[in-house]
Amino acid sequence: MQPIDRSTVWPYDEAGQPRHFYYARYDHPTGVAAERELGAVEGGDALLYASGMAAITTVVLALAHSGTTIAIPGDAYFGTGKLFGLLAPWGLRYVEFDQGEPPPAEADVVWLEAPANPTLSLPDWEAVRAHPGLVVCDSTVATPVYLRPLDEGADVVVHSATKFLTGHHDALLGATVTREPALTARLRELRTNAGTVAAPDTAASLLHGLQTLEVRMRRHTENATELARRLEAHPAVVRVRYPGYGGLLSFDVDGDPIPVETATSFVMNATSLGGTRSSLESRHRWEGDRIPRGLIRLSVGLEDVDAIWADLEGALAATAADRPSSPTP
Ligand code: PLP
Repeated sequence: MQPIDRSTVWPYDEAGQPRHFYYARYDHPTGVAAERELGAVEGGDALLYASGMAAITTVVLALAHSGTTIAIPGDAYFGTGKLFGLLAPWGLRYVEFDQGEPPPAEADVVWLEAPANPTLSLPDWEAVRAHPGLVVCDSTVATPVYLRPLDEGADVVVHSATKFLTGHHDALLGATVTREPALTARLRELRTNAGTVAAPDTAASLLHGLQTLEVRMRRHTENATELARRLEAHPAVVRVRYPGYGGLLSFDVDGDPIPVETATSFVMNATSLGGTRSSLESRHRWEGDRIPRGLIRLSVGLEDVDAIWADLEGALAATAADRPSSPTP
């Protein structure tokens, strides 16, 4: 394994000149090693950041200026739209669109999320390719195992590597991947000077996570496909959203989702996604009425699928029985 070098400084050479590594905000060996591995699977040049949001912030600083219009799917990760709104005093304008439809003509930057968290909608790549704007794709949920956005026409790929890429709920990390050298250089310059850099320990978590990414994603998919099928057939479930790959799905119950999420025990009642252990939560508590009240997001883990299902089925049955108007199971 690559040893983790936590140094923040390295000595200059004999002539008093900086070597490749001299101060960790610019580059550090563990970060460079992890960037090389991620770049190879995404097909571009990767840079790591302190979190997914640090990556997104750096992308916005690199691509936008006062007067720039960013189009973002109305159902994209709510934190991204929230950040864009917070940047309004800097002159950033954002408009929402349905990513299944062509992006708005006035957009300078088109933001995509493939698939969107938590509605699992997908972009219309053909329409995106016909748009003249710069294209950024947040590919956190697909991972490079199922999608390489640079091959589809994106200019920048963004990841919350906190999720599937590191995969064990023990690292907060973000990434970008680009093919255009000038764009990579601009992102690097902003990362260095804004200080949105990743720590060596979380970069090491990415090196570990990438070793098992493909096998984990296949198992996430197997489990999620089966659970989506069983949820579809369950009388207490009114809708299931699953794109057919990956470990994230969402399902809607009729009524209050909180009794369902708090009735699980094997499946952790917690936020986030992408870990080896299954977790679920109602998203209404965070996102309000932009998503259906009864929507529950389920991050499907790597456990035995029957054990996950037994817990979900028990929670759904218990809460359906509590509801006077619901048919008894
Ligand atoms: N993008 C997506 C799709 C996410 O789901 C998240 C977090 O949930 C983020 C970005 C932000 O990532 P982080 O929490 O690592 O800052």
